[in-house]
Amino acid sequence: MTELIFEKSQDGAGGINLTDEKIDFSFLNQKYLSDNKDSILPEISELEVMRHYKELSDKNFCIEKGFYPLGSCTMKYNPKVNEVLALLEGFANVHPHQNDEDVQGALKLMYNLQESLKVVTGMDAITLQPAAGAHGELCGMMIVKKYFETAGQKRTNVIIPDSAHGTNPASAAMCGFNIVEIKSNEKGLVDLEALKSALDENTAAIMLTNPNTLGLFEEEILEISRLVHEKGALLYYDGANMNAIMGYTNPRLMGFDIVHLNLHKTFSTPHGGGGPGAGPVGVIDKLKDFLPSPVIKYDGSRYFRDYSSKYSIGKMKAFYGNFSVLVKAYAYILLMGSELKTASANAVLNANYMMHRLKEFYNLPYDRKCMHEFVLSGEKQKEQGANTLAIAKRLMDSNFHPPTVYFPLIVHEAIMIEPTESETKARLDDFIDTMIEIAKEIEANPQEVLKHPLNTPVRKVDETLAARKPDLAFRK
Ligand SMILES: *Cc1c(COP(=O)(O)O)cnc(C)c1O
Repeated sequence: MTELIFEKSQDGAGGINLTDEKIDFSFLNQKYLSDNKDSILPEISELEVMRHYKELSDKNFCIEKGFYPLGSCTMKYNPKVNEVLALLEGFANVHPHQNDEDVQGALKLMYNLQESLKVVTGMDAITLQPAAGAHGELCGMMIVKKYFETAGQKRTNVIIPDSAHGTNPASAAMCGFNIVEIKSNEKGLVDLEALKSALDENTAAIMLTNPNTLGLFEEEILEISRLVHEKGALLYYDGANMNAIMGYTNPRLMGFDIVHLNLHKTFSTPHGGGGPGAGPVGVIDKLKDFLPSPVIKYDGSRYFRDYSSKYSIGKMKAFYGNFSVLVKAYAYILLMGSELKTASANAVLNANYMMHRLKEFYNLPYDRKCMHEFVLSGEKQKEQGANTLAIAKRLMDSNFHPPTVYFPLIVHEAIMIEPTESETKARLDDFIDTMIEIAKEIEANPQEVLKHPLNTPVRKVDETLAARKPDLAFRK
């Protein structure tokens, strides 16, 4: 167990400070200065600081360390050139309060990214402000709400399938909508009859993910779109699974009115412990005045921030979103160009290859051609004595990040695998072989499998306690 940096502290230890100058804090408002003389800061040499953080980073699992098939999260490779570009001085040191004239390059980049995302989604206007997918959903639901308020219509309900990501109902509920859940049919798709009976003049919107969280394409999407629009409601697209369809189709062609994207999934910017995200939202023409302001525009000679829309839902985030994430996503789009389509093709191919090999050993509740991910069930293994959680823990000892488990909720003992396009066949085979090995281990001796993980920095945690009562403070 690594000691905390506070525990490594030794009185008088420290690094070298090349300046003798005392820093003058008089420019700060005095009320923000702490007069607490007892605050404990660790005293530690430069080398020990380096070792401390290196040790911590070695404990972390990241895409550079191994295969990371976390379903729905699209843990693809983050090209390092993106980082180099985001660190360019003109991007890294730009200040949000600078005048438009001084930051034409940054505004141009944002404008061009908006334009690129319009092409990918088929939407008419984009905001880059939301900081993540869930934040984009909130933005989208706020637009839905304001749209109907402005039209003088009172619509209270948002319909969401039972396979949806938990953020969908959460975002709609935060805007005051009632959630109407509809069941999926035996194919794992939206049940049209259930949809018809849920739809009425109180329906504001339906939130859909396509391909859905089972990795299956909603084949009846055009009929769904027709039914929803017939009732005057809006169709919201959760774009977290955009990596499956880039260049093949887009939410506009499917009839969606509002879309969020996760730049940190589809467009290769780091996520999780790797940094902040971005959840741009696209809308069709009739909704564009509701977008958060400012929208970045171009008048033929200069780029500018436009605050003029009087219907705007306001601001979703301070300033303009996570700018460095936008730089990285734009770099990725330029790097890939029309090869974005190839990325989707390979993501789908990889998932189907893995599904095909693994379904002999694990239950596959929805045995159809999948898109970029698929969902197995560990039910058979659970009956033999080691459940999905045990499989996930066992995988960690073979240097694999576990797949997403116990989601979507409609599959018992769910194991949701998303390989992405950035893996080699050898890497996929290595994971598949390990999964097959684990299935055999469980058949032979489930008790052995339950002992894992043996080699991780922390073995088994009380997951409820860890989530509900994290202890983050150092007390002497
Ligand atoms: C990841 C994800 C979200 C939420 O996105 P965040 O960027 O994590 O906030 C929503 N829906 C689906 C299907 C997702 O996979």
